[in-house]
Amino acid sequence: MEPGEPTEKGVIRSVTHIGTNRKHMTKDARPYIGRFAPTPSGPLHLGSLSTALASWLFARKVKGEWFLRIDDLDTLRCRNSHITRILKQLEGHGLWWNGAPYCQSRRVDLYHDMLSWLKTEGLVYSCVCTRITSRREGAIGQDGPIYSGRCRKGFPSISPERVAYRLRAPSGRIFLDDRHFGYLERDIGRDIGDFIVRRTDGVIGYYLASAIDEHDMGITEVVRGADLLLSSLRHQLILAALQLPPTSYRHVPIILNGIGAKLSKQNGAPPAHENNASANLTRILRLFAQRPPPDLARATPKIVLEWAIQHWKPDRIPKSLEIPLTPNRKISAHLLSNSSAVQ
Ligand SMILES: [Zn+2]
Repeated sequence: MEPGEPTEKGVIRSVTHIGTNRKHMTKDARPYIGRFAPTPSGPLHLGSLSTALASWLFARKVKGEWFLRIDDLDTLRCRNSHITRILKQLEGHGLWWNGAPYCQSRRVDLYHDMLSWLKTEGLVYSCVCTRITSRREGAIGQDGPIYSGRCRKGFPSISPERVAYRLRAPSGRIFLDDRHFGYLERDIGRDIGDFIVRRTDGVIGYYLASAIDEHDMGITEVVRGADLLLSSLRHQLILAALQLPPTSYRHVPIILNGIGAKLSKQNGAPPAHENNASANLTRILRLFAQRPPPDLARATPKIVLEWAIQHWKPDRIPKSLEIPLTPNRKISAHLLSNSSAVQ
């Protein structure tokens, strides 16, 4: 993979075209290639399994391919035992993938090559701010703190090994035409700001690695949880900086637990056990409003998935950002509030 032609130093070219435009969205002649990219910091729970199932169904419905990528760059959080467990859970639920899994930890040379190119082009700069400084000085945007730009002018005396790198985000607006939630538009400076592409400890940032991978793996549509909706804008900025075409996204609602929080390892969501595979799959299908027949939960996972492929109706998936696991909870849409651009 090679980035594009050299640009005017320090300026991401064609900022007005950053994002997934409608022309790009409507016809994609390539065969469908989807992916699931878990972080192996724990086993899959019903929430992560739901995005796995959704992305698998989008791929299998059109006889496309579905790749597995293990996002294991953060060695402090990731464990090989979790990788083994996740693979077993996917197999047990019948969610087979194509080819060998990709592992981000084995792809770091590629990310560093891309980062070097960004450095050469002046599109990233070194940052010595701590998380605390960044938080104290930055405004809080819809998707977390906005960096103040304190280090934009550089710290030449600091060893390059001990600094973080931030993408020099241009001013202007950025667009995303999400295939589920529709058109989304944000002010880059106000809502996103310069963000980390390499951490102080040398670990490549999630946004950079994932943006490169979606392109390099040939992914035609990224299906993932709606909590990452605004993160997709950062991926698009990185791709624009690397002069690579935008990725297409389809975000699906995330699942909330009984107290209205996203199901997560941190808040103790139980692992989705493969012994309950058919029950888990049909439960997720119900949450996605696919209306599986009541006795389907007693069939084998293979039968459940065959039914799901045949009856997969993306239009029925709720347009809300969140789906409560237990009914009658208030559904919020805080990420999309204050945005007149969402249709
Ligand atoms: Zn800084």
